[in-house]
Amino acid sequence: MANLTINKDLCNGCGVCINSCGNNAITLDNGKAIVNENCILCGICVDSCPCNAISIENISQPTKDISNSSGIWVFAEVSQGKLLPVGFELLGKGRALANQKKCSLTAVLLSHSSEAMAKELIYAGADDVLICADKDLHDLREELCTTILCNMIMARNPEILLFGATAFGRSVAPRVAARIQTGLTADCTMLEIDDKGLLRQTRPAFGGNIMATIICPKTRPQMATVRSGIMEPIHRDTTRIGKIVRVPFPSKLKTKTKIMETRLNKSTLNLADAKALIVVGKGIGSKKNMALVNQLADLIGASVGVSRPLVDAGWSEYKHQVGQTGATVAPKVLISLGVSGAIQHLAGIYRAEKIIAVNTDPDAPIFGVCHYKIVADCVEILKELIEIYKK
Ligand SMILES: Cc1cc2nc3c(=O)[nH]c(=O)nc-3n(C[C@H](O)[C@H](O)[C@H](O)COP(=O)(O)OP(=O)(O)OC[C@H]3O[C@@H](n4cnc5c(N)ncnc54)[C@H](O)[C@@H]3O)c2cc1C
Repeated sequence: MANLTINKDLCNGCGVCINSCGNNAITLDNGKAIVNENCILCGICVDSCPCNAISIENISQPTKDISNSSGIWVFAEVSQGKLLPVGFELLGKGRALANQKKCSLTAVLLSHSSEAMAKELIYAGADDVLICADKDLHDLREELCTTILCNMIMARNPEILLFGATAFGRSVAPRVAARIQTGLTADCTMLEIDDKGLLRQTRPAFGGNIMATIICPKTRPQMATVRSGIMEPIHRDTTRIGKIVRVPFPSKLKTKTKIMETRLNKSTLNLADAKALIVVGKGIGSKKNMALVNQLADLIGASVGVSRPLVDAGWSEYKHQVGQTGATVAPKVLISLGVSGAIQHLAGIYRAEKIIAVNTDPDAPIFGVCHYKIVADCVEILKELIEIYKK
């Protein structure tokens, strides 16, 4: 951990550091510079100070005893009153890791109503469910959830904590990690236990060109976020039994924010949850043909995904990209139009139940993974399908 220090004997109150700071983190007090909580330790003031009065010190932290941490926790996120699928996927992975480590698997549920949800989490692999229920948790807010999760962690000392890489998971996990002072790996695509019992957290790095494996050997819990659609849930088993542990909502916990209304943004895509998907590649020929794709998607109730070159060409937005550096999808039916089937693309569609591929090249790699193969012009097929579904 580091700390910004201002040597009062050297500071002459010139104010150069105040002007150099982009975060309003320095003010003057009795003619001497003082630092406030806005400081992000960027070091610009250190370089700008003409009196060499400012320095950043590394404070070595006392080594924490991590030997008594145990158990794997999964944060089961609730949105719009429903458990998100990514929680079940993480429980599937967590179950395998817990079996390997011979430890317990706990689902953490912060919600306003929770009994039925807790049972579902046990059916999905959890040994126990830690519940904090309160009307204030009807809508999840980071400030409340961070404090509740940190209290739970400090009281129970888990070894591993997993979050879905949802908007909320991506927001709350770093807050928890910072407050507990442990490590966090975002957007993992693979989780394994190594021979020392550490969590190996693998994620694409440098634009997906390499896969980096990260460990957190010195602090606990070892924390990771995982995108939806990457891990497999286990089969729902209603004979499973588990313990439900209620944790009281901290009585003094207050929130500064009030959610007045939640509106679903239609343009917010969750490709990972789509049941029917049309995925379009460069073979679609032009941006204007994307209108035909959207027309068919509306007719059959499908979402639209694209290969990376379409995003690069500006024919579609990144949120539609499927593949190694885009979304991992698991629809029941995927119609692939004019996609070659490069390995980086296939990395995102391998969990689709049925793939129907259209390509003019009979040897296109996509035909090696699809269930139905149509060697044809995809624009013609698209127009025919629109006519059929219109009728
Ligand atoms: C680090 C890295 C990460 C990457 N991540 C991703 C990723 O997340 N997602 C992704 O998709 N790609 C990704 N790529 C790019 C990937 O390697 C391929 O370049 C890309 O998937 C190719 O897209 P495509 O199939 O649409 O285009 P192309 O490879 O150009 O293929 C077009 C296909 O359309 C066919 N075709 C042409 N005309 C027609 C027609 N009229 N009707 C039917 N078929 C037709 C052609 O036969 C061809 O098979 C990544 C690459 C790298 C290096």
